[in-house]
Amino acid sequence: MKDHEKNNNPTRKDREINFLKLEIEEVKKLSAINEKLLLTSIREQEKLLNELAKRSDVILKKGLEIRELKAFNEIIAVASKHLSIKDILTYSLQVIISSLESLEKAVGRKVRISGGIFLIDEATEELVHFTSCGISPDALGCKGRVALGECICGIAAQSGKVDIIPYCKAELHDKRLPPTCMEEDHAHVSIPLKSGNKVLGLIYLYFVPPGYLHPASDANIFSSIGNYLGLRIEKARLYEKVQELATLDGLTGLYNYREFHHSLEHEFQRAKRYTKTLSLLMTDIDHFKRFNDTYGHMSGDEALRTIGRLIINLVRNVDIPARYGGEEFAVILPDTPLKQAELVAERLRSSVAGHYFSIGGKAVSLTISVGLASFPKDADTKDGLIEAADRALYCAKNGGRNRVYRFMRGKKPCSRVTIPGVDKL
Ligand code: GH3
Ligand code: MG
Ligand code: MG
Repeated sequence: MKDHEKNNNPTRKDREINFLKLEIEEVKKLSAINEKLLLTSIREQEKLLNELAKRSDVILKKGLEIRELKAFNEIIAVASKHLSIKDILTYSLQVIISSLESLEKAVGRKVRISGGIFLIDEATEELVHFTSCGISPDALGCKGRVALGECICGIAAQSGKVDIIPYCKAELHDKRLPPTCMEEDHAHVSIPLKSGNKVLGLIYLYFVPPGYLHPASDANIFSSIGNYLGLRIEKARLYEKVQELATLDGLTGLYNYREFHHSLEHEFQRAKRYTKTLSLLMTDIDHFKRFNDTYGHMSGDEALRTIGRLIINLVRNVDIPARYGGEEFAVILPDTPLKQAELVAERLRSSVAGHYFSIGGKAVSLTISVGLASFPKDADTKDGLIEAADRALYCAKNGGRNRVYRFMRGKKPCSRVTIPGVDKL
């Protein structure tokens, strides 16, 4: 074979090489495609994984939010069950602490939470300890009083904003905290109790160990709790005021006529059920019209206030003094035998007679007459007891005033009570 023929006609080996080259090219193309596919799938997978991570975050957050809302609902349920400020705040604080502990547990943290509540004393512009749970006011290092604008609590109360400090020791300058507060590092949450824009008090919470985790969502929940409890405090104060107006006499601060009857009915039923002695004193100021006419109605009012105070100071905490009418007072003495009631009545009379009312620099005296009756000796019913004491009072007036008479069932209606030496007591 000639040379040029040899060149134009590839040998079997050349053909094989060419074929191999083509195959390599094909493999290269395929592997490029493969690589592309692989990369796309990795990217897709990454995208999917990201999406999944985001979704699980959302689910976790939603789960926490649901738990937080559940806790918030529980606090509202507890707070709305009670009427007095003491009950509302004590029980709410317990629920807040136990709910937060379980929320922390749900994110895998074992945390000990304690805390308390301050209410604002408007006169001194201070936060004053009201109740606490798991911590004593002494441990705060502020003796239960914090001025507005001082320490973490005072600053939060002044700003009216929720304050969450994850690490107290690491993040705070000494001046914001009394030294005793820093003994154990803790997270500190302050929640102002607000009614509208007015701050009425503050909840403080200590978390040990520190490092409180999810402040962003909690700040809103905490602020809702503070606003709700603030409104409840305002409502409870109004309720207390209404109760006071409904049960207390405005001039003397003693129970009024309505409350007197209510209490006497209650004590009467109790005495009947437990076979106890119940005594009743009815008093009336002597010649009070003359006193008013001579010194004026204002001085008369002041004298009524003073006699109300004398009565309160003389009787026991369990006794129930009331303003029965204009210048008439009554005292219910539960579980008090006649002899003891006679002593109280005489002391009362003697204490008023021995008091000098200062009117325009002049010392003026007043006296009272007292009627006394006891259940079961003198009457069978509550109204019968009032009638008996009233009759004895009438006898005291007729007998010459400034004296105590006791009712007697039987022939002689009433008899004078005298206790030697009582004027010197
Ligand atoms: P007696 O010794 O018989 O009880 O004489 P008295 O003057 O106290 O009795 P009377 O019932 O005639 O008068 C009661 C007086 O009490 C008449 C009224 O001016 C006065 N009074 C009643 N309520 C008030 C009050 O809220 N303030 C004042 N300042 N006086 C009152
Ligand atoms: Mg009278
Ligand atoms: Mg009178």
